[in-house]
Amino acid sequence: MIRTGIGYDSHRFAEGRRFVLGGVEIPSDVGLLGHSDADALIHALIDALLGAVAAGDIGQHFPDSDPTWKDADSRKLLATVVSELEAGRWRVVNVDATVVAERPKLAPFIVRMRESLATILHVEVSRVSVKAKTNEGMDAVGHREGIAVWAVATVESPPEGNAPQDF
Ligand code: MG
Repeated sequence: MIRTGIGYDSHRFAEGRRFVLGGVEIPSDVGLLGHSDADALIHALIDALLGAVAAGDIGQHFPDSDPTWKDADSRKLLATVVSELEAGRWRVVNVDATVVAERPKLAPFIVRMRESLATILHVEVSRVSVKAKTNEGMDAVGHREGIAVWAVATVESPPEGNAPQDF
């Protein structure tokens, strides 16, 4: 059985915050505002993975009203979701994401983001795609108010006879 999910996330820029994307800290004169480390790429991926198995969304699993997740390293949240998927006999087939940001320049960091995510997802780097583009100056993202990320994830269950468990 193969299933696909979609995820989306956005975070505003904020002074005095780190800019972390795909688990990689990127040098930037402006960071991202959020309850956790504001890693919008990982958050979108988490929603895509949860969506693939109809298991709700990141806000239900890691509520931002819970102080546990204050400034949380989003890699740990993603690792938690991956272990829960694996416990339910699901494994990641591939993921793909598009980051939309006018700044900072992300191209030099794409490979590191893919490697970082592949390690957490327990897949080869060739199954992890991260793309970056600008919004051509249009709308809030184009006006440099923040960034947005779309992601899709495909997961599969083992061969017949080993039915996946509900998440
Ligand atoms: Mg988020």
